[in-house]
Amino acid sequence: MSQKVAVVTGGTGGIGTAICKKLAAAGHKVWAADIADDAKGAEWVAARKAEGFDFGYVRADVTDTEGCAAAIAKVGPVDILVNNAGITRDAVFKKLSKVDWDAVMGTNLDSVFNMTKPVIDGMLERGWGRIINISSINGQKGQFGQTNYSAAKAGMHGFTKALAQETAKKGITVNTISPGYIGTDMVMAIKEEIREQIIAGIPVGRLGKPDEIAALVTYLASDDAGFITGSNVAINGGQHMF
Ligand code: NAP
Repeated sequence: MSQKVAVVTGGTGGIGTAICKKLAAAGHKVWAADIADDAKGAEWVAARKAEGFDFGYVRADVTDTEGCAAAIAKVGPVDILVNNAGITRDAVFKKLSKVDWDAVMGTNLDSVFNMTKPVIDGMLERGWGRIINISSINGQKGQFGQTNYSAAKAGMHGFTKALAQETAKKGITVNTISPGYIGTDMVMAIKEEIREQIIAGIPVGRLGKPDEIAALVTYLASDDAGFITGSNVAINGGQHMF
């Protein structure tokens, strides 16, 4: 497969870094787009360089429509977009503030509009593109204390299905990945006792690995996956089957 240009939002995070590495190993030119300033981005690039990777970094706050357009203008034509940036602001709905509702909607769902908009015309013109939205098991099944996150993550897949139909004839695929619990810093920070309870509910008997998500992203980004569009791939160790 020829070298493509990939942008991974939240690319310096736990899952994002693994996605950047696997896409690079598949031969693509990879840019991490993240909210950290250019100095922190440069530190991340230098640390990855020491591991043998040659990444670009572009600052992009995915809640900022104009900022995303400016970031994509810096990168140039993008063939593969991975909408991976995400946050949680958990509270039971009775206590959920509008601020936390808006923050989660902005980062997890508005982001998909903000980043896809500036790349889609080029993909349509070139007749090839891959858009991969990182959702969550909790967007599929709902989760206590996460009305905001569950709604935003479910919304991502609605976007996937609609855009997949609009772009299928133009060589573009649009897919969602819904990870279950993955052993990132965020999950490892959960109290061990609670984490053990979570693991007990996963038939495979362990947390997922960032590399497992990254391998699926890399496959969906490949030419081999050209017949997969509009799908929502669950990668959750059997925790939720539908
Ligand atoms: P993470 O390590 O916290 O990574 C998220 C990244 O997004 C961070 O680099 C973060 O930057 C960045 N980010 C936050 N707000 C942003 C904004 N406004 N603009 C641009 N970037 C922003 O989390 P992760 O575990 O790798 O999660 C990656 C994705 O997988 C998320 O969408 C998450 O919802 C989804 N997911 C994760 C799990 C899991 O078990 N970990 C399970 C299901 C789904 P800062 O760190 O500087 O804030």
